[in-house]
Amino acid sequence: MQTTERVSGESVQAAWNKRPLIISGPCSAETEEQVLATAQRLAATGKVDMLRAGIWKPRTKPGMFEGVGAKGLPWLQQAKKITGLPTTVEVATGKQVQDALTFDVDVLWIGARTTVNPFSVQEVADALRGVDVPVLIKNPINPDLELWGGAVERVARAGVKQIGLIHRGFSSYGNTEYRNAPMWHLAIEMKLKYPNMPVINDPSHICGRRDILLEIMQKAIDLDYDGLMVESHIDPDNAWSDAKQQVTPERLKEMLDSIIWRKEDVSSPEYHAALEKLRQQINQLDDELMQVLGQRMKIAEQIGKYKKENNITILQTNRWNEIIERATTKGEKIGLSKEFITRYFDAVHMESINHQKKILDSE
Ligand code: PEP
Ligand code: MN
Repeated sequence: MQTTERVSGESVQAAWNKRPLIISGPCSAETEEQVLATAQRLAATGKVDMLRAGIWKPRTKPGMFEGVGAKGLPWLQQAKKITGLPTTVEVATGKQVQDALTFDVDVLWIGARTTVNPFSVQEVADALRGVDVPVLIKNPINPDLELWGGAVERVARAGVKQIGLIHRGFSSYGNTEYRNAPMWHLAIEMKLKYPNMPVINDPSHICGRRDILLEIMQKAIDLDYDGLMVESHIDPDNAWSDAKQQVTPERLKEMLDSIIWRKEDVSSPEYHAALEKLRQQINQLDDELMQVLGQRMKIAEQIGKYKKENNITILQTNRWNEIIERATTKGEKIGLSKEFITRYFDAVHMESINHQKKILDSE
């Protein structure tokens, strides 16, 4: 689809390639005044590279504010004109893609409630065929990496060259500290799978509240994320959506100023020599761990033989609870988290079961 001056070419590319890439703006565009004032105050911080705003808002439940719709697009166009900030908007249908491009939106993003639905993702991808626009893909609301990767593939197959990932956390049943549990390991897995794609962290939807945003932002930077997408509003408490998690542009600046920015590497030979030495120790310990795990499996196999001879089930719930109990108590004393111990022993246990199953199935 041909559009007018969508890509103020270089500035969009400069923003897309900047590290860290900082995207900010309101959860939703509400009024022209709100969009323009937010954009101007964000630009004044000198810290923001791209302006975001939700125009169409997919809400979990009906009856809530669902976005101003296409009439908000000229507001963003105007905000870009005044501030020079490239813009990004969430799209969920082919029509929304077309409308956004008609009004010169520079980067599109696919939201968490769309990434879950291959029909919708495909519709968006089809509308993007032949269009040279960067696309950010949020993780699906449920912790399913196949869906996230599937959305990436659909968009890539439509010929989109510049794709980025947004980690916005995963919804889980019940109350937690977070609105959406970060489950960092899933985002890290995607980062390893798509090493050339920028990964942006969205602390706003992970936290759901502004008081813990900064710690999530810092953690993302510690984990070498390529940027942050943070919701901001000129009057957060009165925002029409996601009021609790938004911050003023000035508060955003304060937070960005207090982050310790880390880089992936330095050229200092002392640093590399010290790291090399420690990494060798880690390799050594990893080798030993593997040896010990191998021995553990051999013993599990011996137990398997006894179980087979006596027709006993592989899974012994009491014994398993005892192992976990023992391990978490010991582990916590030496600084290993309960979560890690449980995940680690679950994996070891599964492997033991597989070894014993082979024994039970053997002649
Ligand atoms: C948003 O960015 O405002 C939004 C709706 O996000 P998500 O798709 O992550 O819920
Ligand atoms: Mn929001």
